[in-house]
Amino acid sequence: MKFGMMFKDVSGALFKKPFTENYPAEPTETPDRLRGSLVWDPDSCTGCGLCARDCPAMAIEIEVIDKKAKHYQMTYHIDRCTFCGQCVESCNQGSLVMEGGEWELASLSREPFTEVGERPPLVVEETE
Ligand code: SF4
Ligand code: SF4
Repeated sequence: MKFGMMFKDVSGALFKKPFTENYPAEPTETPDRLRGSLVWDPDSCTGCGLCARDCPAMAIEIEVIDKKAKHYQMTYHIDRCTFCGQCVESCNQGSLVMEGGEWELASLSREPFTEVGERPPLVVEETE
C-alpha cells in the first residue's frame, strides 16, 4: 500500500464513529429472542421432573419434598446450563421461561451460579 493511500485511510478513520460497542460501560440492547437464564414459576409447577430428566447438561434438580402438599424445590445450576431451551420445551405447565432479561451472568465466584427455589407446601385444612 502506498503511503498516501494509507494516510488517507488512517486520517479518515480518526473521524469515523467506532464500529465496536462501548460495552459494558454503555448497556447494550438485548435482542428479543435471546435466551437468558431460566425463570421458574413455582405456582404452576407440578414437580413432574420432566425438565430435569430432559436437560442434557444436568443443570436442573427437582426435589419433591412432600408430594401431597405439592412442596417442591428446584435447584438450577446456571454454570452447567447451555441455554438450549430443552427444559422450556419439555415443561407442559409453562413453568419455565428463558427471558432475555437475565444474561449478564459473569461472576468472580461460583456462588451466584446456583439458584435454589422452593414451592411452599400447600396448607391442607383438616376436616373434622
Ligand atoms: S436450557 Fe438446556 S441446559 Fe439449560 S437447564 Fe434447560 S435443558 Fe438444561
Ligand atoms: S417440567 Fe415444569 S412442571 Fe415439571 S418439574 Fe419441571 S418446571 Fe415443574
